[in-house]
Amino acid sequence: MSDIIYTKVDEAPELASASFLPIIQKFAAAAGVSVGTKDISLAGRILATFPDYLTEAQRQTDDLAELGQLVKTPDANVIKLPNISASVPQLVAAVKELQSQGYALPDYPEAPSTDEEKAVRAKYDGLKGSAVNPVLREGNSDRRAAKAVKSFAQKNPHRMGEWTADSKTRVASMSGGDFFSNEVSATLAKEATAKIVLETADGETVLKDGVTYPAGTVVDATFMSAAALDAFLADEIEKTKAEGTLFSLHMKATMMKVSDPIIFGHAVKAWLAPVFDKFGDKLDALGVTGNAGLGTLLEKVKGEPEIVAAIEEITAQRPPMYMVDSDKGITNLHVPSDVIIDASMPALIRAGGKGWGPDGKESDANCVIPDNSYAPVYDESIKFFKENGKLNPATAGTVQNIGLMAQKAEEYGSHPTTFEIPAAGTVKMILDDGTVLHSHNVEVGDIWRSASARKAPIEDWVNLAIDRQKAEGTRAIFWLDADRAHDAELIAYVKPILEAKGVADKFEIMAPREATRASLETITKGENTIAITGNVLRDYLTDLFPILELATSAKMLSIVKLMNGGGLFETGAGGSAPKHVQQLVEENHLRWDSLGEFCALGESLTFLADAKGNEKARVLGAAVDAATQGILDNGNSPSRKVGEPDNRDSHYWFARYWAEALAAQSTDSELAAHFAPIAEALVSNEAKITSEIAAAQGAAADLGGYFHTDDAKTAAVMRPSATLNAIIG
Ligand code: NAP
Ligand code: MG
Repeated sequence: MSDIIYTKVDEAPELASASFLPIIQKFAAAAGVSVGTKDISLAGRILATFPDYLTEAQRQTDDLAELGQLVKTPDANVIKLPNISASVPQLVAAVKELQSQGYALPDYPEAPSTDEEKAVRAKYDGLKGSAVNPVLREGNSDRRAAKAVKSFAQKNPHRMGEWTADSKTRVASMSGGDFFSNEVSATLAKEATAKIVLETADGETVLKDGVTYPAGTVVDATFMSAAALDAFLADEIEKTKAEGTLFSLHMKATMMKVSDPIIFGHAVKAWLAPVFDKFGDKLDALGVTGNAGLGTLLEKVKGEPEIVAAIEEITAQRPPMYMVDSDKGITNLHVPSDVIIDASMPALIRAGGKGWGPDGKESDANCVIPDNSYAPVYDESIKFFKENGKLNPATAGTVQNIGLMAQKAEEYGSHPTTFEIPAAGTVKMILDDGTVLHSHNVEVGDIWRSASARKAPIEDWVNLAIDRQKAEGTRAIFWLDADRAHDAELIAYVKPILEAKGVADKFEIMAPREATRASLETITKGENTIAITGNVLRDYLTDLFPILELATSAKMLSIVKLMNGGGLFETGAGGSAPKHVQQLVEENHLRWDSLGEFCALGESLTFLADAKGNEKARVLGAAVDAATQGILDNGNSPSRKVGEPDNRDSHYWFARYWAEALAAQSTDSELAAHFAPIAEALVSNEAKITSEIAAAQGAAADLGGYFHTDDAKTAAVMRPSATLNAIIG
């Protein structure tokens, strides 16, 4: 295994890697550090899942499984780039593309009937949603803006939309019947194996058997009432119309891959309620459920003029919808993975509470977030900015995050323990000693879920928070709601550890709403704070605060201290930026900013030095930090516009500053001597290299695929400077 693993992913970050990874490999080799890759892309994972359908030459190893083993060892040193968490439409598109490239994969069975189809479907379902991160995240999360990044943002404040007190933008959440209000939770005194059953008038169905939990695991169960959800959605559609705002739904159909597509489907049905009432049977026959979104639905009813007319009729009566792309007519409800709450809500808040409407103009919006577990964070943020006006990034402090994440902690709605209830009855969670741990009365269509958090990860998380608070000396808040069942169990862990370590006075414990306000007040004063949160808020807050403070979460330092001693370095907190690929393909300009990769690389090299006593790696890592600083100080980050410097230019500058720092340092004279001529060559060829890269821009670019690109074509697009390539080798 290589010293450092750099993951092969999808979309924009993978395009960036085609340019950046050769530079990393070349520089690292000088310190005897090998940098290898493992393929966790959606296409790669599909190919690894279906060897029986492929020729010998087409088969691919299961790199994700290998990495899953590696992260449990002290040797792990993995740089993890964001990958696609596939929704069904994305999965189907990736399969189609691979088939067209000659891979004889089975189609994705929409309605599996035979045993073989069911087996294929189960395999595909395993690839859906957040299938990668939970496997790799064998540790808790430490995310913050590196000092250089934060001070750059303060010196170069980004544009913020104005917030006014009369903004009609608001958050709408259910008043009951949601996951939040139905939650029950218990901490297991001893190891247990649970089964989940549904008892109905007709008998008992086992939904899931053999779920084992070690002693000390916090096990929750809850459900969302389908009837309450439907009533809420219908009501909010009406209220949106009355208020004259945009209807917008914000979900996390990728991470909460079982529950949230179902909730999304309810919204599609609520929006088209009269159509589903009138043509329900026909829509069933066409295999239309709503869960795959309005886009798929419209595609499937194309040949049914009556239904199309009914859809047009109801659409005309609905309030305007928040748009993903108003030019192309892509609405909020077209694709479940287009509007993802952790990215969409911060963007809307940063814009002063505005979203894009069908007329291509900005408007206030009703932000529908059905469940109350975390909606108060956005609700309170909006209230705060209405009262106080927009945040000033030039003076604002920062909110760091320590997130509970290890061993699939709090993976709500994505576990194999989430179910859409097939018949009215009682769901029981029964332990092997016969104890009924949890019980809920449910109706048809309710969404029941259980999630858990293990003792060792919880304790590790609290200790990580203690370490970080000590290092930073700032205000530190556990975002836990004493009145919520799950959080109360966590508080029972947190308080004794803080007391035993004598640091209870350094920490506060607040419910998410209060913690949101306290954190916004703190950063408004220019001070810093640490948010110590569960897994979902880790995800949400490490987009929300960075987007307000830095304009993007892609620049975050994101460290996973693996529980068995290894290191996992995630690059930023953003995703794979599909829009950036679109721009590259259309006009050969890649606006992806690799600052997240730069930060992760520096951490990874320093970690290697600490773990393996490789002092050359330490020198290399320190020079990475200097190069990152150089990129920021000299404004070498990519521009958004074609014809201006892009991602590839920024890699040239990074290589140059990196080589210059290595040549200039005196800790390791061998490295200095090695890099002096490289630095010289990069400096003296500046004009040539930058003009070769600039010449590549403008026309369409051919990658030979979207999900499964052609390596040679991608390299040709992403490494257009023969001069730079010759220096890098
Ligand atoms: P996203 O990819 O983060 O994109 C949202 C916007 O953020 C982009 O359009 C871009 O803004 C900006 N952005 C993100 N990273 C950037 C970077 N490095 N440089 C410059 N701008 C950057 O979020 P998404 O559209 O919600 O998700 C896309 C895909 O990523 C999904 O498949 C999702 O599942 C996946 N995802 C993966 C991870 C992970 O693996 N850790 C995390 C989140 C999302 P502009 O377009 O305005 O430039
Ligand atoms: Mg996120």
